[in-house]
Amino acid sequence: MPQRKPTYDSTNVERFMTGLIRRAPHEPEFHQSVREVAEVIIPHIRKNDRITNAIVFERMTEPERVFMFRIIWEDDNGNVRLNRGYRVQFNNALGPYKGGLRFHPSVNISILKFLGFEQTFKNALTGLPLGAAKGGSDFNPRGKSDKEVLRFCKSFMLELFRHIGPNLDVPAGDIGVGEREIGYLFGQYKRITGEFASGVLTGKGLTFGGSLIRREATGYGAAYFAEEMLNAVNDGLKDKTCAVSGSGNVALYCAQKIIQLGGRVVTMSDSDGFIYDKEGIDEKKLARIIELKSARMRIREYVKHYKKASYHAGKRPWGAPAFAAFPCATQNEIDIEDAKRLLKNKCRLVVEGANMPTTIGAYKLLRDKVIFAPAKAANAGGVAISGLEMSQNSLRLSWSEDEMEERLRDIMISIHKQCVTHGKQGKKPVDYVVGANIAGFLRVSDAMLAHGV
Ligand code: NDP
Repeated sequence: MPQRKPTYDSTNVERFMTGLIRRAPHEPEFHQSVREVAEVIIPHIRKNDRITNAIVFERMTEPERVFMFRIIWEDDNGNVRLNRGYRVQFNNALGPYKGGLRFHPSVNISILKFLGFEQTFKNALTGLPLGAAKGGSDFNPRGKSDKEVLRFCKSFMLELFRHIGPNLDVPAGDIGVGEREIGYLFGQYKRITGEFASGVLTGKGLTFGGSLIRREATGYGAAYFAEEMLNAVNDGLKDKTCAVSGSGNVALYCAQKIIQLGGRVVTMSDSDGFIYDKEGIDEKKLARIIELKSARMRIREYVKHYKKASYHAGKRPWGAPAFAAFPCATQNEIDIEDAKRLLKNKCRLVVEGANMPTTIGAYKLLRDKVIFAPAKAANAGGVAISGLEMSQNSLRLSWSEDEMEERLRDIMISIHKQCVTHGKQGKKPVDYVVGANIAGFLRVSDAMLAHGV
C-alpha cells in the first residue's frame, strides 16, 4: 500500500511548523507555544516509529473540539451588549477536559489554543487523571459592576452548560475569573440543570464544594518549585531578592510563599505599572495589597501607604535588581530587552508563574544563563489542587488545609523529579524545559497509543 503523505512532518521542526501554520493561520500565540514544544519533542520522537506512524504529536496539536458562541447581556444602563465565548476541548486522553476560563478583552482563539495546548502537558505532569481544555470570553470585567458581571456570567453559562459536566469537562478560573465569577457560573449551572453537580467547576467557594488552598495553590506551587530547583544546587530562596509581576491570584500567593520561605519580594505590578519596595514587601504589607486588590484598587495605591516605595507607570518590573524573577501576570511579559535587563542585574532564576510569560527570543537568551522553570511545570499547582477538589467532590468530603498543602508540595516535588529525570543530559545542568515537555508528552502519548486510532 502506498504511504499517505502526512499533513505534517513530525521528523522535522520547520516542516512540522509549516504544516501547523497552514492549518491554523493567524494564530501567533498558538504557533509560539507549539514551536517551543516541537523543538524539544520532535528530536526526541524522530526515530520512534510507533509514535510517528500514529501521528501522535500532530494529533496533540489539534484540539479535539472547539465551541464558539455569542453572549448577549444587558449593562446597568439598559444597553444590550455583545461578547464572544469559547471553549477549546484539547485532549481527554488522561481524564475529563480540564482548564480555566479567562475573561479579558484580548481573548481570542489563538490565545485559547495556546493555553489549551500547554494545559495538556501541565495536567499530565501533575500525575492526576486530567485532560486539557481552556475557554473564556473577550468580556472585560474591569470597571463593570457586580450586577453586570453576574448578568454576563449567567448568559455565558446559558451556552457553556451544554458542553461541560463532572465527567466531561470541568472549567476553573484564570485571568479575570476568580471566586466571584465561579460562584455566579456555578449558580447558573445549578439553575439550568436543576442539579447540584459540585464537580462541574473548580475554584468554588468553601461553602459549596470548594477546596482549601485552591486560591493559593498556583502561587504557592511556583514558590515551592523554585525552592526545589535551588535545593538541587544546594541553595534556597532564603534571603534572595525576588521580582514578582502581577497582583492577581497567582502573583499574590507566589509572593506570600516566597516571603514565608525567607525570600525578599521587592516588586508587584498590574497592567498600569509596577511598585518597587527596596526594603521588601513583608507579610503585613502583602496583607495590605491583598486588601487593596479585593477592593478592586490599582497597585499604585501601595505607595500612598508606604512612602519609601516607588511607582513606575507604564513599566514592567524587570529592570529592578533581583536574584529571581517570577513573571505571574500574562503571556509574553518578558521580551528580549527585559531579559537583557535581568541578566545585567545578575538574575539567576526565572520561574514562570503565568502561562508563556517569556517570548521565544527572551527564553533563548536566558536558557543557558539562568535556572529556568517553564510554566507547565512551575504553575501546575493550581490545576493539581483543582484535580484534588474534584476528588473531594466525588467523595463528598473535604481535606484539611495542612493535608492539602502537603499534597501540593508533594506534587510539586514529583514534577521537579520528572523534570530532572527527563531533562538531565550528561554532565550538563538540568534543562527544565526539556524535562517538563518530555515527561508530559510521554504520559499523554502513552494513553493515546493505548486507546488506538
Ligand atoms: P488575575 O486576573 O487574578 O491577575 C492577573 C494579573 O496580571 C493582574 O494583576 C493584571 O493586572 C495583570 N495583567 C493582566 N494582563 C496584563 C497585561 N497585558 N500586562 C500587564 N499585566 C497584566 O489572573 P491570575 O493571577 O489567575 O493569572 C495570571 C497568569 O497565571 C495567567 O497567565 C494565567 O493563565 C496563569 N495561571 C493562572 C492559574 C490560576 O490558578 N489562576 C493557574 C495557572 C496559570 P490588571 O488588573 O491591570 O489587569
